[in-house]
Amino acid sequence: MSDCIFCKIAAGEMPSNKVLETENVLVFHDIAPAAKVHVLVIPKKHIASLNDITEEDASLMGEVLLAAKQAAETLGIADSGYRVINNIGSDGGQVVHHIHFHVLGGEKLGALVG
Ligand code: 5GP
Ligand code: ZN
Repeated sequence: MSDCIFCKIAAGEMPSNKVLETENVLVFHDIAPAAKVHVLVIPKKHIASLNDITEEDASLMGEVLLAAKQAAETLGIADSGYRVINNIGSDGGQVVHHIHFHVLGGEKLGALVG
């Protein structure tokens, strides 16, 4: 998608502070961190939201979750714990319509659920 910010970041057309990159996935620091550590994990392929994944994307979504775990390890937050969040659509608070998983940690996070 030519007008998608995260496609531009994935293509290297817009700068980002990268944590890790594989053939299909990119992890980079959020521009407006909501916790001491806040990175975003995206597939390089444009998928608008979780509502738009298909069975064809099953393996890719597995790679996305693996990259979230690897980024947490690289950033030193894996052992103390962290949170992975995916916002979907308007009620979910999704602003950027390229699927992404927030990885938040580095401090004690307030309870969202439970
Ligand atoms: P959403 O609300 O869609 O789940 O989250 C979008 C996230 O993308 C927000 O946390 C926002 O700070 C981040 N973001 C928006 N534009 C950019 C950008 O150009 N670069 C980076 N690194 N993060 C961005
Ligand atoms: Zn995109």
